[in-house]
Amino acid sequence: MTTRISHWIDGRESAGTSGRTAPVFNPATGVQTGEVDLASASEVDAAVARAAEAARGWRQASLSRRSAVLFAFRELLHQRSDDLAAIITAEHGKVLSDAAGEIARGLENVEFATGVPQLLKGGFSEQAATGVDVYNIRQPLGVVAGITPFNFPAMVPLWMCANAIACGNAFILKPSEKDPSAALFLAGLWKEAGLPDGVFTVLHGDKEAVDAILQHPGIAAVSFVGSTPIARYIYETGTAHGKRVQALGGAKNHALVLPDADVDMAADAVVSAAYGAAGERCMALSVAVAVGDVADPLVDAIAVRLPKLTIGNGAEQGTDMGPLITREHRDKVAGYIGAGQEAGATVVVDGREAAVPEAGFFLGTTLLDHVTPEMTVYTDEIFGPVLGVVRVNTYEEGVALINANQYANGTAIFTRDGGAARQFQFDVEVGMVGINVPIPVPVAYYSFGGWKDSLFGDTHMYGPEGINFYTRGKVVTSRWPDPATSSVDLGFPRTR
Ligand code: NAD
Repeated sequence: MTTRISHWIDGRESAGTSGRTAPVFNPATGVQTGEVDLASASEVDAAVARAAEAARGWRQASLSRRSAVLFAFRELLHQRSDDLAAIITAEHGKVLSDAAGEIARGLENVEFATGVPQLLKGGFSEQAATGVDVYNIRQPLGVVAGITPFNFPAMVPLWMCANAIACGNAFILKPSEKDPSAALFLAGLWKEAGLPDGVFTVLHGDKEAVDAILQHPGIAAVSFVGSTPIARYIYETGTAHGKRVQALGGAKNHALVLPDADVDMAADAVVSAAYGAAGERCMALSVAVAVGDVADPLVDAIAVRLPKLTIGNGAEQGTDMGPLITREHRDKVAGYIGAGQEAGATVVVDGREAAVPEAGFFLGTTLLDHVTPEMTVYTDEIFGPVLGVVRVNTYEEGVALINANQYANGTAIFTRDGGAARQFQFDVEVGMVGINVPIPVPVAYYSFGGWKDSLFGDTHMYGPEGINFYTRGKVVTSRWPDPATSSVDLGFPRTR
């Protein structure tokens, strides 16, 4: 018995009409649990028309009304977070505490957006010229869309929709078709919070729906989070169709461990960040760069921690790591372990040999030592529970390695030396940096974004940059009738 997962249009569930669907699985059991509708271009068209109508009404809503809806949404999300976590675990596979963590980080973005009256305040210059005042205002774009990945089915949509809606836009979410139910749960909460129908829309779909969004003249901006090849495609196609686009891509995040680091603390941090969510995080640490003689003790300290992790169904208490998202992805990740071994890496812990539940898409934790930069386990984003250790002799060699990588999402340094940490923050060409912090996802009042192939576009996501992304600036120069300052003057206006 599978559940039909429909779109959410005009404040209610709306069955798809394209005749196309995709299966949804519980990755911990391998059983198909749902069937999600895939929108056609004409369904996208109809949803955009409804969202455009809703956007015209919503931009009239006062800032205090918008803020009140956000406060109500925040309360509901807080109260129902256990229900949402269960939905995430059932379709994504991550353990319940991890699902609760992603909701908590998503909630921060809602809390930030409740401050929209403050966030949209502009500047005012009285008497910029005699009798003339100048001020700036920020206005919503209209209909904006978000296209999101499978690995954070609640947090990443919340990165986008809270600010987009607070700024007075209508928001269309195209979630991952692999775990689409969290999006519908959020839609229900928005309605309950008093958001007018049509302001929040969920359109499920695949490339067909995404292409229709990218080409639609009624959509002003697109926020995307996903893999690098698709992020590049979204950016190029969306901007070619005149849209504002921010497209966050994949990652290969390095931990640089200096010889003076506290090895046990570094190992705890690296294990947590490499294997949490089975490595399916864009901020997961997938490379440990060991400087000098820290390498042997670090590898030993990581290796002893791995057998202690409990791998199983994330819905069960006491589980540390769940399955991967699909059978195909699990097999692809396992293939990388073999490729690393053949290329000369030392397999210290082999996830293929771990005792894991047979049903479901499980793979154990893998630790590869003596990884070198030309191996595919180093060059590719594996997105699984595989950590590679690269040994270098000096800090400079480590930084050069990180800076040569095509990805530049996050990185972390482990050291007790403040000077070295400060130098690292100065030298490293990466968008988000942790100093003894393994997953430096910025709090909601900063903005999130990588450099290089981890982000296409100029704007990072959420926080102050999110507010700018979802609004357009306007500057007003005003003068009130005053006969004393009135005359005909064909010269270019000067400030006097
Ligand atoms: P993905 O790129 O396969 O899919 C992301 C979205 O794009 C989904 O909604 C999907 O339906 C859509 N899509 C997929 N193929 C498409 C195509 N050919 N044309 C148009 N649309 C398409 O990514 P994923 O596997 O869902 O997520 C994992 C990836 O996301 C990893 O690479 C990870 O690093 C990245 N990610 C990045 C960040 C970040 O902040 N930089 C955050 C989370 C995830």
